[in-house]
Amino acid sequence: MTQADEADTVEPMIHEDDLPGHESRLEPKPDWEPRYKGSDRLKGKVAVVTGADSGIGRAVAALFAREGADIAILYLCEHDDAAKTKSIVEGEGSRAIAIPGDLGDPQVCEQSIQKVVDEFGKIDILVNNAGEQHPDKDVRDITDDQLRRTFQSNIFSMFYLVQSARPHLKKGSAIINTTSVTMYQGSKALLDYSSTKGAITAFTRSLSENLVGDGIRVNAVAPGPIWTPLNPSGGKPPEELKDFGKSTPMGRPGQPNEVAPSFLFLACEDSSYMSGQVLHPNGGIIVNG
Ligand code: NAD
Ligand code: MG
Repeated sequence: MTQADEADTVEPMIHEDDLPGHESRLEPKPDWEPRYKGSDRLKGKVAVVTGADSGIGRAVAALFAREGADIAILYLCEHDDAAKTKSIVEGEGSRAIAIPGDLGDPQVCEQSIQKVVDEFGKIDILVNNAGEQHPDKDVRDITDDQLRRTFQSNIFSMFYLVQSARPHLKKGSAIINTTSVTMYQGSKALLDYSSTKGAITAFTRSLSENLVGDGIRVNAVAPGPIWTPLNPSGGKPPEELKDFGKSTPMGRPGQPNEVAPSFLFLACEDSSYMSGQVLHPNGGIIVNG
């Protein structure tokens, strides 16, 4: 598989037609492995990571576990991928629970947070990373069902999870939300998706203002094109996949393990003087913001 300094393109050999895509069925496989030894930066912490079954979320779960955190893996329905992430976390010597369910439903969010607290006794870090995207050439092709689902999965879920987790968050806790380069650049075929990502960045800034006085930091990560199941499983038209990431200044897609360190930085004390900000692991695209 490609790595930062090796091959510069990723040609999908096996992909699926519909979200959610399974990492177990994706070829070539994304790189999720942490690239460095751990240094206990999250020792004793409990992290909830949504969409941790695959892609960016799996790499975040693996890296956080390497740094000593126990991980709650929240995901939609990809049980094989979630089981693999669980075994990766346990392989790092951390505890893991995998909780499936549609996070666009407030009751599922409430029940999921309760399960985490029942299992681990607390929550220190909330990574709101689950999301879906569906390309449409014409604004009139966006169905009402798709519009609602995309907003429910991508941004409503963040409100519901923060509402449920809020009583458990305290001084030193951190929230990290996944937004996207598409909100900064615009994306002509992802009108609904990029709009949710704009909302996520605004939510991040406002939630930071809301919580910073209680010592809770809120930041976001805006990835560029990253090789995960999302785009090869209906998130992008198949004919565009061969050029995925080529238009970035680095001329290639990123790998999940090139994105996860941004989440780690924002989750741990290294970023103790940062809140309301966005990091941009995006292959060198200048977005200013
Ligand atoms: P991915 O498909 O591997 O991960 C997304 C996960 O979200 C899925 O595994 C799925 O289980 C979960 N999910 C989706 N809808 C859900 C719902 N309603 N309830 C519960 N879980 C749900 O893809 P990824 O690329 O790792 O995506 C992670 C995040 O990164 C997303 O927010 C995505 O928008 C964002 N992002 C990805 C890219 C990229 O190029 N891959 C670029 C910018 C931002
Ligand atoms: Mg998945």
